[in-house]
Amino acid sequence: MDFEGRVALVTGGGQGIGASIALRLARGGACVAVSDINPANASETVKAIQAIGGKAIALRADVSSQADAEKMAEDAVTGLGGLHILVNNAGITRDRLLLRMTEEDWDSVMAVNLKGAFNSTKAAVKVMSKNRYGRIVNIASIVGLTGNPGQANYSASKAGLIGFTKTVAREFASRDVTCNAIAPGFIDTAMTRALPDKARESLIARIPLGRLGTAEDVAEAAAFLASDAAGYITGHVLSVNGGMSM
Ligand code: NAD
Repeated sequence: MDFEGRVALVTGGGQGIGASIALRLARGGACVAVSDINPANASETVKAIQAIGGKAIALRADVSSQADAEKMAEDAVTGLGGLHILVNNAGITRDRLLLRMTEEDWDSVMAVNLKGAFNSTKAAVKVMSKNRYGRIVNIASIVGLTGNPGQANYSASKAGLIGFTKTVAREFASRDVTCNAIAPGFIDTAMTRALPDKARESLIARIPLGRLGTAEDVAEAAAFLASDAAGYITGHVLSVNGGMSM
């Protein structure tokens, strides 16, 4: 996939799936603004991109803040000369069974996973809409489709992100801005490494392809949806889950 001449902004690009997506887009020739609440990690991703001969800048932004998101989009445009691709990847978990879940658990997950995508999309889509080109990819989750005990906040935020994706797709289609979501299954990153061995084994037993996903599995799907090749796909939710839910 050819991203020559394209500028991409990846939120939560400091590690895990976001870092893999940033690297994948850079490998295809995109200039990448790697944004994260953790600036040291964002700089590490930038170094990895530079090591393969790519161009990237690191930005510090907390996507739950509208002011940060606005500045992040502006800095991407001024730093790299445009904004064609936005990947809303930043996300957190605060898992607890519903009766133990606190208001803070609920609000913090909604603020990053759902409001963060709203803030970043609103900031980026202004530029895309003006230029009549854009690719927005939202990283949702399998649990936004199926639910999961202990994740009322997280699954609701990801289900909300899917509704948000379809609305943005409808609102901006006439400007050639597409908006799609990816629903990863269980991916081997810091987020899932906390699972006890037994829970991991029973999870793997439920995955027809017989393994957890890798960050690269998700990055390949994101690269496709961010490419010109996916120009006639919008409002879609692409499962990358090894067949765990069909
Ligand atoms: P991760 O925890 O490894 O990485 C998340 C990144 O987001 C980190 O770099 C973190 O610093 C950043 N971040 C957190 N809060 C932020 C904020 N307020 N503003 C900006 N950046 C912030 O997680 P991951 O596994 O790479 O997950 C990436 C995305 O994929 C998340 O949206 C997650 O919900 C989703 N996802 C992950 C899995 C999985 O199994 N790992 C499955 C489905 C969906």
